[in-house]
Amino acid sequence: MKTIPFNDLKTQYNSLKPILLKRVERVLEHGQYIMGPEVRELEDVLSKYVGVKHCITASSGTDTLLLSLLAIGIQPGDEVITTPFSYFATVEMIAIIGAKPIFADIDPKTFNIDANKIAEKISNRTKAIMPVSLFGQCPDMDHINKIAKEHSLVVIEDAAQSFGAKYKDRNSCGLSDIGSTSFFPSKPLGGYGDGGALFTNNDYLAEKMKQLRVHGQKKKYYHEKIGINGRLDTIQAAILLSKMERFKGEVEKREIVASRYFSMIKESCPTVVLPTISSFNSSVFAQFTISLDNREKIIIYLKGKGIPTTIYYPICLHEQEAIKKLKLPSTSLPNAEKASKKVLSLPMSPDLDFETQKYIVQNLRKAIEMNK
Ligand SMILES: *Cc1c(COP(=O)(O)O)cnc(C)c1O
Repeated sequence: MKTIPFNDLKTQYNSLKPILLKRVERVLEHGQYIMGPEVRELEDVLSKYVGVKHCITASSGTDTLLLSLLAIGIQPGDEVITTPFSYFATVEMIAIIGAKPIFADIDPKTFNIDANKIAEKISNRTKAIMPVSLFGQCPDMDHINKIAKEHSLVVIEDAAQSFGAKYKDRNSCGLSDIGSTSFFPSKPLGGYGDGGALFTNNDYLAEKMKQLRVHGQKKKYYHEKIGINGRLDTIQAAILLSKMERFKGEVEKREIVASRYFSMIKESCPTVVLPTISSFNSSVFAQFTISLDNREKIIIYLKGKGIPTTIYYPICLHEQEAIKKLKLPSTSLPNAEKASKKVLSLPMSPDLDFETQKYIVQNLRKAIEMNK
């Protein structure tokens, strides 16, 4: 029995191999491994794709969150409102500065921060809102931007999982003051290593983030600010440039794969809760995340059939040991807690074929029947 890849990067590599290797070879030949011409070329391609003035590539989607928080001047003791249901990096970068993460509960249908629950969390120490576009779709960004404007807050979209997604026909990453994405290999636009990018229309913030990316210097060896080494490798830029050649087609293929899952699961597994995509969104389906009962037993059954699954995320951010130590005022976040106990993500990639999906869903049906 062969195991189905959770995210089929091999097929993608095979289809890109000739142009990808040529691009990487060019970098090895010219030798500008740090901030070589491919970095600027990628930033141009990405800012055009998203439709914003500036793209600043960086070393990871965690470092982009840090750079954005530093650029807007977040200080120890400041409060940043975010979701309790995300990857740890979101809350981690708020906390590492000494700022306080304040959680607003999620919408149980989309798993994204519920914009209606943000206003009640604002205090006179609140400086920013950091929504996450989880599993490939955006929260209601216009609503969030409106609340932010009323209270003079900055909005940073953690779009690590949503590069390529659309909100009201606008692109994720370009929907607020700053958009932050990741090129971790399994993300919709993944490299062959770590990487990330920031997007903004604000000239001042763009300059600042560029400066912070290289140890706070504008001129070499003259440091005006405390920054980090947050650059993207030239080789990763070359790889991402070749991946961009296929990216638009991949976004379409992801939608096709997702729509097959929708119809197959609806028919075969009526007790499974399918993902809800808001009417204003088109998701890039970084994950295809269902909700169901008896999750642990189902995972074991599927694993035995060569079908890998992942739980994004088994523990909410406010329940993580490192966050509990911050002794934040306790709040009730029932929707996030419930989601963490029910969600399960199925294999997902643009190259997932019909037959494999049929096999996955048939076995999901069997697993559910056996564990009623
Ligand atoms: C992956 C991810 C990050 C971190 O990105 P890295 O490139 O792995 O550092 C941050 N936020 C979310 C929501 C993510 O999914």
